[in-house]
Amino acid sequence: MQFIDLLTQKDRIREALLKRIERILDSGQFIMGPEVIELESRLAAYVGTRHCVSCSSGTDALLMPLMAKGIGPGDAVLTTPFTFVATAEVISLAGATPVFVDVSPDTFNMNPDLVGQAVDQAVQKGLKPKALVPVDLFGLPAEYDRLDAVADDYRLWILEDAAQSFGGSFGGRRAGSFGLVGATSFFPAKPLGGYGDGGAIFTNDDELDALLRSIRVHGSGVDKYSNDRIGINGRLDSFQAAVLLEKLTIFDEELDTRQRLADAYSQRLENRLVVPRIPDGYRSAWAQYSVLAASAQERDQLMQALQQAGIPSMIYYKIPLHLQKAYDNLGYSVGDFPVSEDLSGRIFALPMHPYLKEEEIEQICTVILG
Ligand SMILES: *Cc1c(COP(=O)(O)O)cnc(C)c1O
Repeated sequence: MQFIDLLTQKDRIREALLKRIERILDSGQFIMGPEVIELESRLAAYVGTRHCVSCSSGTDALLMPLMAKGIGPGDAVLTTPFTFVATAEVISLAGATPVFVDVSPDTFNMNPDLVGQAVDQAVQKGLKPKALVPVDLFGLPAEYDRLDAVADDYRLWILEDAAQSFGGSFGGRRAGSFGLVGATSFFPAKPLGGYGDGGAIFTNDDELDALLRSIRVHGSGVDKYSNDRIGINGRLDSFQAAVLLEKLTIFDEELDTRQRLADAYSQRLENRLVVPRIPDGYRSAWAQYSVLAASAQERDQLMQALQQAGIPSMIYYKIPLHLQKAYDNLGYSVGDFPVSEDLSGRIFALPMHPYLKEEEIEQICTVILG
């Protein structure tokens, strides 16, 4: 059994994709070709924003808005410690300081009640709080109604880390459309994954859109060889755009399947483990299906039993970011973010992808229920 099966899906789009690939081969437009333009307009329509700027990875999709907004040394950017390292890494790459906000125990997303406290901590450290980067963890959008209000109170702008949540929604709005700007990833294992690296940025702000397009190509001005600002090489290639265009045609169906599989898991496991809770009005893209054991010891036992039955499981995230060696310099210690620390000790993720069979879920649950 596979944790994420990327190969079954390939057969569904193979013919159409090969046609697109041949056209790219013959056109010679390998970078930012017509497929990239088509993809950007499709994605913007899907997410419901005026602009979509495709780029080379989810990491660059997070970094470029920070660069565009002039985030740098002396600035604090608030995010959660219970996420993939890239969320905080881009804050450091921009020269700013990550300041962490603990997550809610039921959604694993940023707790809006704790933002004010983190803002105070940032000010005490002599930093200027500028932006908030909520993460839509495992595919579930963060609480944007409350986060928007808190961000307004403290004059912060919001960058949504929608790397895991493309396809998810809240209050009828799709992930990627929250805050001033949203960033997603097309890493193969994400809900909408390419066959390589890729990402996209979404915004309704015309000025930000223009800045992002410049930063994507080395800070270009009127043409490629006039440089108005410091940028990066953040372009998406035409082959990846072709893959994503074809995957988009079956994406909504895959999301429905993920939801059905998550329901099947929860139905069988809810009396044995803490299963994910999706609040009313939200839809998860189910990038991961993560459950909580009662203790670290029980998690180890269950993961071992699964492994013996040939079933892969993973831990996202074993070490919260404030306790990672790379962030020693921030001066955090054990006990600073109790919810994230508790989750990292008990959480584990079960196989989740749209080609998982109901029989396989049955098999996985039988092992867990012992
Ligand atoms: C995957 C991921 C990223 C980074 O995306 P890449 O495309 O791998 O660079 C950022 N944030 C979160 C929460 C992610 O899961």
